Amino acid sequence: SRIPRIVILGAGYGGIITALRLQKELNYNEADVTLVNKHDYHYITTHLHMPAAGTDHFENARVSILKLIDEFKIDFVKSTVVQIRTQDKKVILEDGTLSYDYLVIGLGGEPETFGIPGLLENAMNIRSINTVRHIKEHIEYQFAKYKKEPRRTDYLTFVVGGAGFTGIEFIGELADRIPQLCKDFDVDPALVKVYNVEAAPTALPGFDPELVEYAMDVLTKKGVTFKIATAIKECTTDGVQLADGEFIKSQTVIWTGGIRGNRLIEEAGFEAMRGRVKVDEFLRAPGHENVFIVGDGSLVISPENRPYPPTAQIAMQQGVVCAQNLVGSIRNTSLKQFEYKSKGTVASLGKGEAIGVVGDKKVKGFWAAQLKKMIDIRYLFIIGGIPLVLKKGKFF
Ligand code: FAD
Repeated sequence: SRIPRIVILGAGYGGIITALRLQKELNYNEADVTLVNKHDYHYITTHLHMPAAGTDHFENARVSILKLIDEFKIDFVKSTVVQIRTQDKKVILEDGTLSYDYLVIGLGGEPETFGIPGLLENAMNIRSINTVRHIKEHIEYQFAKYKKEPRRTDYLTFVVGGAGFTGIEFIGELADRIPQLCKDFDVDPALVKVYNVEAAPTALPGFDPELVEYAMDVLTKKGVTFKIATAIKECTTDGVQLADGEFIKSQTVIWTGGIRGNRLIEEAGFEAMRGRVKVDEFLRAPGHENVFIVGDGSLVISPENRPYPPTAQIAMQQGVVCAQNLVGSIRNTSLKQFEYKSKGTVASLGKGEAIGVVGDKKVKGFWAAQLKKMIDIRYLFIIGGIPLVLKKGKFF
């Protein structure tokens, strides 16, 4: 009979781990595997806050896909997916069509703006190499513009919407970068304002309150002004309108307040909540035994009956089980149930500072920052072995 065709959409955390695992586990000629991704590189999303703020080069946040996969075992197609057609088991690309027997959707997420007017049009997002390159250049340009129009202090006001993981990690880097930018552009640091606006009653919802307080303390000392329990009502070309009546004049709004699944998932007709599909225990879309969904496009419910937040950590663990279940499906052997095991969470707060929870231990400050580096290095090792660690790893 014909060799089954597996198509993996997206080479993010979930997709690349699925591909690497399949490459290892499949026997010769057991399946045809094709990996599709918009870019010819995999980006290390968890690192993007640094190049966005300009505290690191974006090259350190991406890896060439062909350096990670074995081209003799996996076909890589650099293209953009435009439609998923489960009814005839096809994927429409911008420049072609692929047929599949098994599909893995790992297309990541997109910003959720909760319908807040103007946010989609006027705010920037930390999502990809392209968006972070733009954010970095935009920030520098504001300093240059201010020097030409010194009355426009709104050029020096930066607003980050959302105090979740991404917002906090980005604002830590931004606060670190500002003194250098002030030096480079001869700007008085007292004129620069950095706001972090969050609608929830606390920053870093879900984190231990003592650590949240520590994080806010560190960032406040670096010059960040927090507006917690304050919703953004509207984002205009001039700034943001807050629910408490204040209007912050700013030319730079970076929205990190929410993630939804890739729109292609809903467009394909899968039943979704905010673009995310509640997958079965084997990571399959309900009613589709040949479609697996990993990463930000999937929804996994914890034993406490709450959805796990979308993270790189869960996407990677899903990739491992997804590959196993693809092999199981092809061989007609049993499938493995997915169970998320949190290895802990560490959020960086800029250079040398972080907070985290590992098991029941809380860590903060220097040691947490070291732990963050170890987690990043471990990931490089998993996908690219020692050579990648030596090339992109940050040890200091
Ligand atoms: P992604 O990694 O988002 O990858 C999706 C891939 O699909 C991309 O390669 C993209 O190019 C491709 N793609 C998208 N659309 C198309 C299309 N139409 N056609 C073709 N290809 C397409 N999580 C943690 O666990 N720990 C952290 O410390 C952490 N820090 C973070 C810091 C920042 C600044 C950000 C933004 C996120 C962070 N996260 C962290 C969250 C984590 O990055 C995401 O949960 C994770 O990347 C989701 O992985 P994924 O496999 O769903 O897809």
